[in-house]
Amino acid sequence: MCGIVGIADAGGVSFSLYHALYALQHRGQESAGISTYSEGCFYKHKDQGLVGEVFDEATLQGLKGNVGVGHVRYPTTGANLPENIQPFNFRFRDHFFALAHNGNLVNAAQLRAEYEQAGEIYSTTTDTEVIASVIVDEYRKGHSIQDAIVFCMHKLRGSYSVVLMVDDELYAFRDPLGIKPLCFGTTPRGHIVASESVAIDVQGGTLIREVRPGEMLRLTPDGYESLQITMADRPAHCIFEFIYFARADAVIEDQLVYDVRRKIGASLYDEAPAKADLVSPVPDSGTSIAIGFAHHSGIPYLEGLMKNRYMGRTFIKPSQKERELAVRIKLNPITGHICGKSVVLVDDSIVRGTTSRHIVDLMKESGAEEVHVRIGSPPIKAPCYLGVDMPTREELIASDKETQQVRESINATSLHHITLDALVQAIGLPKEHLCTGCLTGGYPVPIEGEACLARIVDFVGGTYQTKLGTLWEKGKTKKRPSRRK
Ligand code: AMP
Repeated sequence: MCGIVGIADAGGVSFSLYHALYALQHRGQESAGISTYSEGCFYKHKDQGLVGEVFDEATLQGLKGNVGVGHVRYPTTGANLPENIQPFNFRFRDHFFALAHNGNLVNAAQLRAEYEQAGEIYSTTTDTEVIASVIVDEYRKGHSIQDAIVFCMHKLRGSYSVVLMVDDELYAFRDPLGIKPLCFGTTPRGHIVASESVAIDVQGGTLIREVRPGEMLRLTPDGYESLQITMADRPAHCIFEFIYFARADAVIEDQLVYDVRRKIGASLYDEAPAKADLVSPVPDSGTSIAIGFAHHSGIPYLEGLMKNRYMGRTFIKPSQKERELAVRIKLNPITGHICGKSVVLVDDSIVRGTTSRHIVDLMKESGAEEVHVRIGSPPIKAPCYLGVDMPTREELIASDKETQQVRESINATSLHHITLDALVQAIGLPKEHLCTGCLTGGYPVPIEGEACLARIVDFVGGTYQTKLGTLWEKGKTKKRPSRRK
């Protein structure tokens, strides 16, 4: 999971990219980077740390140009190397390339081996560099950049939402299953493409729409052009975006995530009501779900835990010991609210069980008489191979335990996970349009040793090369406002 953004704006992009990355900070806290281009020069800055730590005003002033891309990276064990920080920048035949990727290719190792055999060298361990090498290889063969992307998309398998800057040109493309989110909209004097609509909101811009699964876009300050490259018989949007990853104020596939989560909360009450004095979220991931539960049940919403706002998410540390410590520092029980009370405690998910176990213990130590845990996702049974940092089956508490055993393990008075059907209903998309791999063990792409739900991936012809020019669809050109004061 990462956050990506690309902006083409006649008024300069570095500060807008910075603000967009700030809005996407929840998608990755390990590192951040921005690359821009202006008049034959490439400007770039990236480092480990939060967006506000990596950039300052002077750095941003130095990132010149009206086009650029940015990235926030999510930590995954073992890959915490400085060279893996994105955007991935390089030069080829006097052109500057900067690429930022959210997702995970399932054929990266195979492609990498193939290209290494042919003489390619790699400087990172990311699949993002593999995407770059495929594009450059096609470009080297004499194709235009657009055609090189088209060929590249035909070779990639897995999840990818990508923004690519080649000199002053900005492209975006998304895998045919639309696994990771990607949307685009307007900025004051241009266009933006980003992982979530919240990055458009902070520009004072307007969301135009999602980038369609299998679509490539070229964005300029004045407009956008679109080409449908590949298509699957149906999409497979990551269900976890709705449950946890996306910000509650994001709009994905026309659904306001906040409202989806409130509906999840209401369904949790319908499925497993509890008699309690208060409904408390695990902040912040359980907040909108808890609000839904409280409204629907009539039980007062009252925070039983206070979050230290200046910490990252509990998962941010790779080892189990550090993770437990992180939970302790992050959340403090509000004894006055919970002592002697029966509490409904609402969170989005249980992964390893560390968070829930610790919080239930904290609440009981603070005098809570009963802690009824309600979870906004069905039990997580299987790993994610498509870009979410889900651990192995051995680490997933629900992979081999029934709910009753998990309840005992986390020491809760009662435990209920929302059913998949109720979750899908809350999301409002057909079940077949969602990737539920981590909940069902059935994935939308073939993965060795796992079940695959057949999805036909259909490409636009073999004739796309000759048709490319005619297939481009011009998007609405934005009316330019008068010069900004
Ligand atoms: P755990 O303590 O391992 O059971 O993790 C559960 C907590 O981690 C929940 O409060 C979730 O909000 C959060 N969470 C769920 N999935 C992820 C993920 N892939 N990365 C980071 N945090 C997550």
